Amino acid sequence: MHQRALEQEKLSSLGTLAAGVAHEINNPMSFVTSNVDSLLRELRDTPGLPPHLQEYVDDALPATLDGIRRVNAIVTDLRRFARGDAEAPVAYELDGEVRAALRIVHGQLSHCAVETDLGDVGTLFGRPRQIVQVLVNLLANAGQATRAGGRIRVTTCREGDAVRVAIQDTGEGMSPETLKRLFQPFFTTKAPGSGTGLGLAVAHGIITSHGGRIDVESRPGEGSCFTLHLPAMLPRSQEDGGPSEKEESRSA
Ligand code: ADP
Ligand code: MG
Repeated sequence: MHQRALEQEKLSSLGTLAAGVAHEINNPMSFVTSNVDSLLRELRDTPGLPPHLQEYVDDALPATLDGIRRVNAIVTDLRRFARGDAEAPVAYELDGEVRAALRIVHGQLSHCAVETDLGDVGTLFGRPRQIVQVLVNLLANAGQATRAGGRIRVTTCREGDAVRVAIQDTGEGMSPETLKRLFQPFFTTKAPGSGTGLGLAVAHGIITSHGGRIDVESRPGEGSCFTLHLPAMLPRSQEDGGPSEKEESRSA
């Protein structure tokens, strides 16, 4: 079996596993969340608590709720990943998906200027909902890294038989240590609750399964640029109006 087919198969069984695990965890977690939450509220409203119970109210129970929120965020990310995996590949136009992703993260980018330069890149073949997920993850990261007044720029262009999507921010950038680890599952530099460390691991899995790759450039204090390279569905020469198609119909 080819390397790519093997990777595809591995990712697809990972998706099935993720869906199963997320489903199994989800029900007990909502039960645990609501019970811990009610218990904390009940104890807070109880006058004259003995000191050992007051400690639970001040430390252990709030920490438990933080931990639960983190598990819930991870389960949500895993479910998104797994759901996208069930999607059948189709022909799609990239600019529509870029706009869909921008609409989804709109609220998270309101503190910075968002510029788009969407070129004519032709048709792609793949799972557009997964591609939207990747764009959402990259845009959310860019928004989180960028201070008020910063800029995020989304550019698409065609490069031979590949399509390039760049998401560039003027945010905090990354240290060499972060650059080395950013695609590792659960690697995050964010506070618990605001990051699961799954966004880029999922993005990497999705783009690899589409036969593409992600390049990253970053300078601490200046900003970062994530570039997706995806194969175009058809070589330029075979697209509508392409020169060699005319050649062929003339000679036929
Ligand atoms: P999360 O966002 O949950 O932390 P990700 O996998 O999306 O997880 O990102 C992993 C880490 O990569 C982030 O915690 C952050 O340190 C770094 N990172 C990703 N995108 C950017 C960016 N645009 N600018 C600066 N750092 C980034
Ligand atoms: Mg992220």
